[in-house]
Amino acid sequence: MMSTHTSIVYGPIASRRLGVSLGLNIVPPGTKTCNYNCPYCQYGWSRPLRASTPGWPSAERVARALDARLGQATARGERFDRITVAGDGEPTLHPQFAAVVGAIAAVRDRSAAGTPLAILSNASTLHQRRIVDALAQIDERYLKLDAGDPALLRRINGPSADLHAIIDGCRRLERFTLQSMFVTDGVGRVDNATDAAVQWWLQALQQVRPQAVHVYTLDRPGAWPYLRPVPADRLETIGARARHLGFDAQVFPGRRRD
Ligand code: SF4
Repeated sequence: MMSTHTSIVYGPIASRRLGVSLGLNIVPPGTKTCNYNCPYCQYGWSRPLRASTPGWPSAERVARALDARLGQATARGERFDRITVAGDGEPTLHPQFAAVVGAIAAVRDRSAAGTPLAILSNASTLHQRRIVDALAQIDERYLKLDAGDPALLRRINGPSADLHAIIDGCRRLERFTLQSMFVTDGVGRVDNATDAAVQWWLQALQQVRPQAVHVYTLDRPGAWPYLRPVPADRLETIGARARHLGFDAQVFPGRRRD
């Protein structure tokens, strides 16, 4: 499992899906803060969220941290493919999310014009107009949807995952990439890569109509140690089924460990 970040800016991280990405952690530093509880989460299990969780960084602090890091990057001649709001939990839970996004966009415009802003979100807050409006200021939105069956979704993402709310929320956005993590425990307690599960997922895809789909699997141990990556050929089959329905689906197999 990975440790949580203690700073607002981290990386850059090089990944197959996002290239060289400078990360922004806008949840309280040093703690995982999420309303989901995915057994595959690389930051471990979630603690119950309190209404007034302390420690959210202000828009000004986020702006200062990003400004300083971009200044350092300019001095060093560093280039990033994108600046990505991700971090140790769900960024859209930030109580001043719109102000934080506005501050990040202003710093990017000033110090790294042309570098796209991206966000990774679990799509659970899109019923709030203020979140949808703030997301409109971000160039690339990567939203999570791991299953199209409500009961399976709760097993994969935790009891607060609500399929219908996610579908309704995604439909409020014009452009986004859906990212879907496929995992198995090998005995069927948690497995969203079965034929039936994939069929439900494809139906959900047709309702949310993403611009692109990323199909991927575990790269590192998650919170629940019994989960395994889904084999590459199975991921390819899932991606091919999505493409057959007209979606621009890319497959990212897990890294070989042998
Ligand atoms: S939504 Fe992301 S941060 Fe939250 S529990 Fe799932 S994997 Fe972890």
